[in-house]
Amino acid sequence: MKKLKVNLKKEIDKSYPIIINKNIIFYLAEELRKNPIAFSYAIISDSIVAKLYGEKLFEQFKNAGLKAHLFTFPYGEENKSRKIWESLISKMLRAGLGRDSCVIAIGGGVVIDMAGFVASTYMRGIPWIVLPTSLLAMVDASVGGKVGIDLIYGKNLVGSFWQPKAVYIDVDFLQTLPQAHLKNGLAEVAKTGFIKDAELISLLEQKTKDIFSKDAEILEEMIFRSLKVKARVVEKDEEEKTGLRKILNYGHTIGHALEAFSDYKLLHGWAVSLGMIVASKISYEIGFLSSADLKGHQKILNALDLPIKLPKSLAKKLKTASGKKRFFDYLYKDKKKRGEKIEMVLLEKIGKVKKYKGNWTVPVEEKLIERGVEAVL
Ligand code: NAD
Repeated sequence: MKKLKVNLKKEIDKSYPIIINKNIIFYLAEELRKNPIAFSYAIISDSIVAKLYGEKLFEQFKNAGLKAHLFTFPYGEENKSRKIWESLISKMLRAGLGRDSCVIAIGGGVVIDMAGFVASTYMRGIPWIVLPTSLLAMVDASVGGKVGIDLIYGKNLVGSFWQPKAVYIDVDFLQTLPQAHLKNGLAEVAKTGFIKDAELISLLEQKTKDIFSKDAEILEEMIFRSLKVKARVVEKDEEEKTGLRKILNYGHTIGHALEAFSDYKLLHGWAVSLGMIVASKISYEIGFLSSADLKGHQKILNALDLPIKLPKSLAKKLKTASGKKRFFDYLYKDKKKRGEKIEMVLLEKIGKVKKYKGNWTVPVEEKLIERGVEAVL
């Protein structure tokens, strides 16, 4: 017998900066002109953001003497698909982009997941830079390196962990973001506060008006605090191996099941808001969360104009035996058998997740989930 070992143990530094600044389009082009990180740049955006900002970015790159291409695809979750991924890769190949290229993602979470996945797979992986333009993308999708696409079998089923080289945030992009999408992102901001930053919750409480009027200073402060929480969690558990990263799923276990139950008619942020209401109610019922915090939790989501009750038609369906069964089927989708306890992230107080027997999730019985769900009916 002959045996050989391929030694691959090495320390890799994947750290990257998150820069929050004004006039980021100009700033990024200048940065790369002074310190290029690639021979050419593939700017990827969707049809809406390309018109608003992608084309400007492309112009700035050209003005800075950088070799750049702009690739766009139609907006919308249904385009986070294998077909679009393949078409982007083909376009990049036809443009002659080599391994010395860099992807620049400019857009919401759909663009980031797609462009990041293109970067992670193109010629076995090339670097990428992120310019998030929706609030959800700024506080969530842009950081953490999870990239991927949807299949007909479900969301985000194909993907990689592929950390960007840098994230550039300009809150002025939010001026054109529709209010519904602003609220969608606010659900994730509130989640971040609930799990790890009570001061962020106070900020949301005191500055609600400024947030809705898109005051740049307050938005920057809110985004910065949110990102700090996500960055600290991802640093400790990049690939969801120790379990800490699960706390970012607060409200999402129930939220995802409600999303599916609504046939994806509920916006993600709406579903997460309702999921958090249910999770907080369960946290209270088990005796982890005080009634004052339970009320405070609901008050914040209400103030952010996020739903705390299911739309009437959905609530009616969920009250029927067949509706309840369908909802629990979605909830147990990843479980081996029906009736197994569902692991949920629960709160000890506002700003703190309950650590239970050394874990960041708590096994919850179906009966208790039913009681929790009553809170949103
Ligand atoms: P999105 O990318 O579809 O953006 C929402 C809409 O707003 C789109 O029509 C987009 O064109 C438009 N838009 C974006 N920025 C705009 C702006 N500044 N002005 C005007 N319009 C603008 O959706 P999203 O809510 O940003 O992201 C949702 C996606 O993100 C989902 O696919 C989800 O799976 C993914 N996601 C990924 C992670 C991660 O860690 N990778 C985390 C959270 C969510």
